[in-house]
Amino acid sequence: MALVIYNSLTNKVEEFKPINGNKVNMYVCGPTVYGYIHIGNARPVIFYDMLRRYLAFSGYDVTYASNITDVDDKIINKAISENTTEKVVAKMFEDAYWDSVERVGSSKPDLIPHATDYINEMIELIEDLIQKGYAYVSSGDVFFRVSKIKDYGCLSNQQIEELNSGARISVDDKKENPLDFALWKKTEVGIKWDSPFGSGRPGWHTECVVMNHKLFGDVIDIHGGGMDLKFPHHENEIAQAEAAYGSHLAKYWIHVGRLDLNGVKMSKSLGNVIYVKDIDNTHDGMVLRCLILFSPYRQMIPYSMDLFNQYAKEYDKWVRAYKQCLFELQYKGLLKDEVDPSLIDEFKKYMDDDFNVQNVLTLINNIVKVMNTSLRAKDYDTLALKLHTLEVILDVLHINLFVDKMTEEQLAVYKEWQEARLNKDFEKADIARAKLVEWKLV
Ligand SMILES: [Zn+2]
Repeated sequence: MALVIYNSLTNKVEEFKPINGNKVNMYVCGPTVYGYIHIGNARPVIFYDMLRRYLAFSGYDVTYASNITDVDDKIINKAISENTTEKVVAKMFEDAYWDSVERVGSSKPDLIPHATDYINEMIELIEDLIQKGYAYVSSGDVFFRVSKIKDYGCLSNQQIEELNSGARISVDDKKENPLDFALWKKTEVGIKWDSPFGSGRPGWHTECVVMNHKLFGDVIDIHGGGMDLKFPHHENEIAQAEAAYGSHLAKYWIHVGRLDLNGVKMSKSLGNVIYVKDIDNTHDGMVLRCLILFSPYRQMIPYSMDLFNQYAKEYDKWVRAYKQCLFELQYKGLLKDEVDPSLIDEFKKYMDDDFNVQNVLTLINNIVKVMNTSLRAKDYDTLALKLHTLEVILDVLHINLFVDKMTEEQLAVYKEWQEARLNKDFEKADIARAKLVEWKLV
């Protein structure tokens, strides 16, 4: 079976066929670095990391790019209020961002374009759009002329008329149409660049299109981001790509749902924000990763402490079972490098079905169950096979159980414990066990 995936552009589940053989180019909108990320922001960080890993596991040659928006009004304002430069603000929160990415078990993308490294290319695109009649200069700002794009609204399934009636009457009479969006913003304060339209800075929607184009060319395979980026950000990226390159920028548009805290969208002003930086980078980071990975990716996650504890229980159960089984097999010298092909096929079947992660969760729990029964039955052959299969599946999802094989010294004590138990030398067994408890091995 081939991978099928929901394409937001066509609103259909489609077979995944990359444009160039088995090469996959993937771009995911990254953070604007002016603050710390919260657990809702971690959702795309986790989902697309998994997507990249799963595609690689399926034999694709993936290049994953995710940008850093290091110029924005919010960064400029933060720099002013803290009496420093935009560069300092952006660097500080970019470092914090990568720390958070690691905390939830994700890896850095292959390519990390920074918006400020592409200013000249952005100016070139804007000039091209003005020349073609898709953009206009208005008192130092440049706007995109939305009415020129026939299928504007194609991604978010909205018609221009609907959008127009919904758009607030703009107090800003610089625009021809309230839906027109800024490609270039005239700036009086903060960081700015010279351009043929006057000094200012690029608009966010232009940054992503240009970086996409520069890194990958006209059409990429996958463009991703959070559901809330569909409109206006991604819609406006598509509009510019249509005008400049005659494409929809990406073949597959994939969006992940939100994560709400106790039914409310997290926001600083409501004071209900859980920052990733405050989560410990082993156990809790992994529990959060599991919670996000095993929730259907397009649906909203109703995050609560109860839900977190539910996943913590599952995760702890896996750790316990894995630890016991691994040590016993290591002690017996019966660890294997083989997998159970039927279980791997089952895993692929669920993942290929637009990421049916709930079935994957059931599959993992079933494997753990069989491991436990095999251990009790001393069926080490089955146990070793299931254990390695579990390792392979968890590695694709990048779920780390933080359990290593025992060291020589630990193994020696483990042997003492097991042998003393067999010989019913309970005193000796207790002494050895106490040591293993100290090492957190049992
Ligand atoms: Zn973007």
